[in-house]
Amino acid sequence: MTLVSPKRGKVLSAILVTSLVTALSLWAFYLGHLHRWLARGEPTGWWGAAGYCLMVASGLAIGIGILTAPFSLARAGWVERAARAGTSVLGAILLVSAYIDNRLYGVLGVHLYDSSVTTLLGRGEVNASLHITLAEVLLVSGSTLACALALWLAGWAGSHFVRRIAQGGWIVGVSLGVLFVVGWVGSRGIHAPLPGAASSALPFYDLRFVPRAVNSTGEAWTIHYPRFGGPLPKLLRKPSFLLILVETLRGDMLSPEYMPELWALQSRPTCTRSANHQASSHSTDHCVFSLLYGLHSYHDQILGKRNVPNFPIRVFKESGYHVLGASSAPLAQWGELSYVTEQFQSFFEAKGADPVERDRDLLRWSMDFLASDSGKEPFFLFVFFDSTHHKYYYPPDFEKFRPALAEGHSLISGDEHDPEIRTRFVNRYRNSVGFVDNSVGTLLRLFIRLGEGKDWMAAVTGDHGEEFWDHGLLGHASVSFTNDRSRVPLVLCNSDSRSLSLPLTSHVDIMPTFLDYAGLIPPIEPADFSSGVSLLRAQDAERLVLVSSIDFPEKNRQLAVVSPTSKYLVWKDPEGAKTFRVTSTSDAEDVPAQRPEADRQKALEFLNDTYRRFFVRVR
Ligand SMILES: [Zn+2]
Repeated sequence: MTLVSPKRGKVLSAILVTSLVTALSLWAFYLGHLHRWLARGEPTGWWGAAGYCLMVASGLAIGIGILTAPFSLARAGWVERAARAGTSVLGAILLVSAYIDNRLYGVLGVHLYDSSVTTLLGRGEVNASLHITLAEVLLVSGSTLACALALWLAGWAGSHFVRRIAQGGWIVGVSLGVLFVVGWVGSRGIHAPLPGAASSALPFYDLRFVPRAVNSTGEAWTIHYPRFGGPLPKLLRKPSFLLILVETLRGDMLSPEYMPELWALQSRPTCTRSANHQASSHSTDHCVFSLLYGLHSYHDQILGKRNVPNFPIRVFKESGYHVLGASSAPLAQWGELSYVTEQFQSFFEAKGADPVERDRDLLRWSMDFLASDSGKEPFFLFVFFDSTHHKYYYPPDFEKFRPALAEGHSLISGDEHDPEIRTRFVNRYRNSVGFVDNSVGTLLRLFIRLGEGKDWMAAVTGDHGEEFWDHGLLGHASVSFTNDRSRVPLVLCNSDSRSLSLPLTSHVDIMPTFLDYAGLIPPIEPADFSSGVSLLRAQDAERLVLVSSIDFPEKNRQLAVVSPTSKYLVWKDPEGAKTFRVTSTSDAEDVPAQRPEADRQKALEFLNDTYRRFFVRVR
């Protein structure tokens, strides 16, 4: 049967074979990747995953084939050649991108299209984090060219083979169509949706097949924040407040060895250290929002879009405070944080060629402010240090832990499986923590010294932690709630030398604690403006706190509920406004452990109570 002339059939066959080889190579990439999850004993939904890969692979081949086929039917010879070459180049770009995506997912647990990566791309700071070298650029370009050549040859050879069977490319097209249907049935019919590990490893699977959680029931909600009417309350006392936030600061860094300055300060009678402080999320923007608003981090999505003003900041302003922010990283450009920083009377952005210079500029500016006349009046000052973000910066004289990786190390081409490299990597981080500790200690000591005989309160914490292969991955962007990512230090100091008991605390507690320290007139309970509690009051021994994932619930549906002794991993069901289920339990140190059904129910009740406390259903 001849659908097109033999010559055109040959071109069409070549294009379709090239597409098929591209698609099958992509399939092999991701199935190879799933194998790693299988090795870790996690459920993969193997056949469903294979079906998905088959569907994507054949769909892709059909797509490329359809796009390029009209050119192959053109009379001009150069158009045919261009179509064949174009298919090969496009396939090569796809394959190299898929390789990088696989590598990124293998090391960091995120995909190229995840918001944590696209935010970085948007900020133009890719190179600061990834440090792409010229050699890597050449390697990627060279690989793409080699790949394109290989695909072109495969298409050429394939077309000769196809011609022996049939006079046109139609047989390839029909085979692809059959594979697509088989793949679709496999991915939808056998396991739909796939279990968590597989569904997050396969690119775009979550976006395509896992139902979104938001508004899936068509319910409409309105914001009820804060939960009381009437005029703004004022502050009874006028203490000055200092909130120091450190980028990427693991909880286990607060020790005499790694943070000698902060360690010495926390042992003073004026200060208390939390035994277990949990960040609200594992990304900078969500955590900054949560700290400054005193609300669960996922409220960021809704309040931010509607520019709902920050209640504690409004109270400070209403009470005549200077409300200032200062940051070493361009926080206003991170995610959608500008609506948060714009609420400060001024927000200083430090200058400098690298994070070390900017942190030094930030320290200078902050110390100048404390010593100025404005520093003598009541103020709320938020300061954000940044050198501890990957690639972990510090001046040479802070290289205490050796051997440390060089600043020019590469995340992409470096062999992170080598134990020697891992040690150097962690040492580099510890050195940067030591550098920031020095700045934090200097600033906090000055604040305490200038505050002698005055009323003040200070808090130091980290936005989130950082995993160093503790559970197989690196960094903090991947959706995971292990302590290396979510537990950070918290040191609270106050001029009353009030001794506090802090067994379990959260980012959402800082602002209600500050307002409670000053006293609100008329009195308003923290629960009416915050997801947290005042740490000045007696703590519930059975207290629970919430850690949520990046872009919850739109893109990720996982949460963690943490108690002093347990951790509950929770998925939000796609159907219904607030239905959750506990998918796994562990002890407080992430060791899998069984928990009684009554405790699991308690965690869910806590979620149901706190989840939409600041929202009201309107119909
Ligand atoms: Zn961060």
